[in-house]
Amino acid sequence: DTIGRSLDLAARRWADRDALVAPSHDVRWSWRELAERVDALAAGFLALGLERGARIGVWSLNRPEWTLTQFAAAKAGLILVTINPAYRLSELEFALAKVGCAAIVTATAFKTSNYMGMLNTLLPELVTSAPGDLHAARLPQLRAVIQIGGPACPGTIPFEDVTRMGGARHSATLAALGATLQFDDPVNIQFTSGTTGSPKGVTLTHHNILNNGYFVGRAMRLTEQDRICIPVPLYHCFGMVMGNLAAVTLGAAMVYPGEGFDPLVTLQTIEQEKCTALYGVPTMFIAELDHPEFSKFDLSSLRTGIMAGAPCPIEVMRRVNDKMNMRDITIAYGMTETSPVSFQSATDDPLERRVSTVGRIHPHVEVKVVDLEGRVVPCGERGELCTRGYSVMLGYWDEAEKTADVLDASGWMHTGDIAVIDDEGYCNIVGRIKDMVIRGGENLYPREIEEFLYRHPKIQDVQIFGVADDRYGEELCAWVRTRPGEALTADEVRAFCDGQIAHNKIPRYVEFVDEFPMTVTGKIQKFLMRETVEAKLG
Ligand code: ATP
Ligand code: MG
Repeated sequence: DTIGRSLDLAARRWADRDALVAPSHDVRWSWRELAERVDALAAGFLALGLERGARIGVWSLNRPEWTLTQFAAAKAGLILVTINPAYRLSELEFALAKVGCAAIVTATAFKTSNYMGMLNTLLPELVTSAPGDLHAARLPQLRAVIQIGGPACPGTIPFEDVTRMGGARHSATLAALGATLQFDDPVNIQFTSGTTGSPKGVTLTHHNILNNGYFVGRAMRLTEQDRICIPVPLYHCFGMVMGNLAAVTLGAAMVYPGEGFDPLVTLQTIEQEKCTALYGVPTMFIAELDHPEFSKFDLSSLRTGIMAGAPCPIEVMRRVNDKMNMRDITIAYGMTETSPVSFQSATDDPLERRVSTVGRIHPHVEVKVVDLEGRVVPCGERGELCTRGYSVMLGYWDEAEKTADVLDASGWMHTGDIAVIDDEGYCNIVGRIKDMVIRGGENLYPREIEEFLYRHPKIQDVQIFGVADDRYGEELCAWVRTRPGEALTADEVRAFCDGQIAHNKIPRYVEFVDEFPMTVTGKIQKFLMRETVEAKLG
């Protein structure tokens, strides 16, 4: 079905139950109230002259207006372009120009402190109204900048005004339009994280993401009794699909603990709002567990949740299970291109499996693991993970060639991730193909070597990657961050490996650094490390 019809259904089925709760914005809307506000905003989008298929960007931290925009864009037949709030002006411009956005919804003040590079001074620059100004010159398609909150910048339209400009005529048009929208219309463009190169705009349909939200929620057995605490960003599929769309299809409430991630506020919100589910990437759970006031909070309402986005350490999973009362915690694996989730543990999987694997394949998704020649490998062997089914994207926006690189003629999505699936179907993600190092014809997996080196008491963090080499094709390089106050030499690191791991897995180059290059979402970009070292080696 479409996202709009799904919201209408929710408004009828769960009418007066909580739909959206955002204590820091004084918002507590029932499903009925949410649907009414969404309709008003969608009619306003039509009044602005935005036509079916037009792209509308949203560039803001988590707040109720974000979600109104998500549902209203879907209702008005628009394609929502979700933009990372940490983007700087040049990245924002790249995104808006790439997909030809006709409008953008943004907030002047991003209230949080811990989002990197957030500059609300960018907005005035974006909407300068002088002749030859930025958006006239460089973003010719951009017609409207809709601003949440004040003070108003010249040239923008206040968000509140848009919700009032629809009127009866546009409401009638909206209702007629709703009946013609198709489940396989594109509804969303999301950018990948840019871990392995520049971000790609992934085009997704109602069918893709609405169903994925539903199955993600089903794996946790969510119902209208549940309240999901969503500290993960909405601009990413983790928040907008696994959070918002799981909620709308199953009737659970969406609870937003503030605009950016703050472990203390998250813990307070869980207690106050009696949340039953909690989402996060591994580092968020660690920040909550390690917070000095952790033990003061009553988290007994928690039951389930999702840890995803990056490899989930077993020890952290155990602590979440024991100390946060999340006995039904699940791990999910996915990628933007597949809506996103394709593997998720189930609440009834044994704890051991739930903490150590990404679970089993989702309903209605096919999976295979292939070798470099595309042959399916036996259970228990490594290969590239491929998935096929309802969740696979339409393609990368305006990038036919890049789409053809990953999506083959029979509909298989080549994930670029290396996985092992055991004979009961549980999957382990071993690493990315792009990170695999081929040294002298031998495949080496950085993650395995990293995990070994983590055992060294003076090593805080380590990344292994390959650099070009005349003799072996590639050689291993390690970037090491030592613990505060500790010093190490390259020879000491190699001596630590000697006799403990195979000789060809011992890094030829070992360098000490203070930081790793990272995407704005916090993923480590090995391709930049490789470039740096190769430039130095000549
Ligand atoms: P880009 O495609 O631009 O290089 P990206 O692949 O990091 O960036 P996303 O789509 O946000 O962009 O992330 C998907 C990737 O994240 C997966 O392909 C996988 O490598 C990794 N990933 C996601 N979930 C897990 C998990 N549970 N365990 C291990 N890795 C995971
Ligand atoms: Mg990717």
